[in-house]
Parts: sequence; C-alpha cells; structure tokens
Amino acid sequence: VKKRIVTGDRPTGKLHLGHYTGSLKSRLLLQENSEYEQFVMIADMQALTDNFNQSYKIKSNIYEVVRDYLSIGLDPNKTTIFIQSQVKAISELTMYYLNLVSIAKLERNPTIKIELAQKKFNSSIPAGFLCYPINQAADITIFQGEVVPVGSDQLPMIEQTNEIVSRFNRIYNTNCLKKCTAYISPFPKLMGIDGQHKASKSLNNAIFLSDTEGDIKEKVKQMYTDPSHIHISSPGKVEGNVVFAYLEAFHPDKQEVEELKNQYRKGGLGDMTLKNILNKTLQELLCHFREKRAKVKDEEIASILEAGSHKANKIAEETMQQVRAAVGTNYFIS
Ligand code: ATP
Ligand code: MG
Repeated sequence: VKKRIVTGDRPTGKLHLGHYTGSLKSRLLLQENSEYEQFVMIADMQALTDNFNQSYKIKSNIYEVVRDYLSIGLDPNKTTIFIQSQVKAISELTMYYLNLVSIAKLERNPTIKIELAQKKFNSSIPAGFLCYPINQAADITIFQGEVVPVGSDQLPMIEQTNEIVSRFNRIYNTNCLKKCTAYISPFPKLMGIDGQHKASKSLNNAIFLSDTEGDIKEKVKQMYTDPSHIHISSPGKVEGNVVFAYLEAFHPDKQEVEELKNQYRKGGLGDMTLKNILNKTLQELLCHFREKRAKVKDEEIASILEAGSHKANKIAEETMQQVRAAVGTNYFIS
C-alpha cells in the first residue's frame, strides 16, 4: 500500500513564493514518487475562521489557488485536489477531536499566538479560529496521511495532530488513526519583502506566483536589505537581508550566491546591483508559471475539484466508519 501525503492551502488569496519553497516544490517531487499517493486540500472551512465576514471571496480564491497549482505543474492525474468543505466528514471528525484538546493547550500554540497578534480580533477571538489546529488534525488523519509537506509555521499543528491521534487511539482503544510526519523543505520559512514576518497572503508582503513582470520588479525594489548599508563601498550585512534570503532560495547557481555574499560583506557591492540580479532570477522562474496560468480554463478547474472531492469523500468515509465504531456512535449498524 502507498503512503498517503496530505497537505493544503487556505483560499485566502493567490499563492506566493513562500508556498513555492515551503510546500509546492515538495509536492511536485512527491507526486512523481510511486511510494506515495498525494492529496492536496483547499482549506475553505479553515479560511472562514478568520474570513467569515468575507465568505464571498472564498470561491474566487479557490479558483486562483487551483490555477496556481496547475501553473507550477501539479498534475490532477497524479495528485488529488479537493475542497475541504465538500468532505463533510472532516467536520464530523473535528467534533470528536474537539473534546480531546484543552483550551489552554490551544492558547499555547506558538503559531496561533503569532497569528492572533497579527489579526487583531481584539477581545473576541472566534472559537473556530482558536480551534483550527484541531480541524487540521481531522484534515490529515481522515485520509490516514503519514507525510505532510508544510512550511515550518505548521510544525505545532503536526505535533497537535499526533497528540490527538495518541489520545483518540488510547481512549477508544483502537489503532484506526495514523500518526504523521512533517516533510520540511530546505527553505521552510521564506520572509516577506518587509523583512519582518514570513511571506503571507494576508500580510501583503509576498511576491505572488502570478505577479506581472512590473509587480516583481517593484517588489524587489522595495525589499528590505541592510538599512545601515548606505555606501556601496562599505560592508553590508547578509543576515536578515531579504534579497539574500531570496537569492539563496531561488538563484540556480549556489556558488555565485556565495561569491555575492562575500563581496557584499567586504563592501563594494551595491543594493541596486544585487536587486537587479534577484529580479532577473525571479523573472526567469515566474514567466513560465504565468504562461501556463493564462491557459487554464474555469471549466477545467471545476471538473478537477469535483472529481477530487468525490474521491476524497470515499476515502474519508472509510476512516469514519472505523472512528464511529471506536466511539460507539454507529448505532444502527449491527
Ligand atoms: P494566510 O496569510 O491566509 O495564512 P499563508 O500565506 O500563510 O496564508 P497558508 O495557506 O496558510 O498560506 O499556508 C499554506 C502552506 O504554505 C503551509 O504549509 C505553510 O506552512 C506554507 N507557507 C506559507 N507561507 C510560507 C512561507 N513564507 N514560507 C514557507 N512556507 C510557507
Ligand atoms: Mg497561513
């Protein structure tokens, strides 16, 4: 039997370079590996937890995300792409899991803490938002997911998932749930152009896979470098310098990046020159995606999602039968 890979994205906007380095590249690799069967979920229910008052945006964002998937080469014949809300059993499983996690534990989740500080819910944090790690545990485990390609911001969610699996299996004396492992890429946390936070759809600090040539150029120009590097001749700092973070992640020639770093540290390499090199690198990478993206039709997206959700439902139901039997809620099955 093939090991299942489960991962996904929130339909809160178009995908960016952080997704590409953090998760999408791993998915491209894994979809070609015959030891695995890959499921990619568009987490609309999770997106609602902090966008419930803008629900009308979700549908168009689902289409944008699938367009991004197809533009980078995710292949719906090899990877099952589906919508979270269309697998209703995920919500059912979430209800079982909600009893297994304390509120104190949710409040201690380091990623939730960072996100709460950014989102300004003030004193009225939606229960759904606080509980999204539990929902995510259901997403993964309902498909018996064992490998989860994610950025490093999601590590606390994987830990939480495995705690739920242990508790459920122990309390209900079963082994119907599988533990999972995060599959972490070499660049699991790409910074935003602001140099402050990780690149994020919601923070307006990301270079999107679908950005135009002009957008890319402008964003590279705005990128945070070393604020104390004023004269070209003076030494500059590489650490915390977003241009170098992006060169490391995207420049095809590692040797050249090392040489640029040395030169920058010594002095004599200007920010403009450096940014021109990065701009060229990103333009070359993203122009191919843009071309493929323009060819994707809405009808194609709809049928991919419908077929994917159908397949996902069948697998989820297999797990749920075991879950209901373990808890004892399968009342009418003798
Ligand atoms: P939002 O701001 O709405 O939360 P996001 O940009 O954080 O959007 P998600 O849909 O939450 O994107 O994350 C999808 C996947 O991409 C997750 O596995 C996450 O870890 C990964 N990811 C997101 N941002 C980055 C980043 N800057 N670097 C590496 N991986 C990332
Ligand atoms: Mg996020």
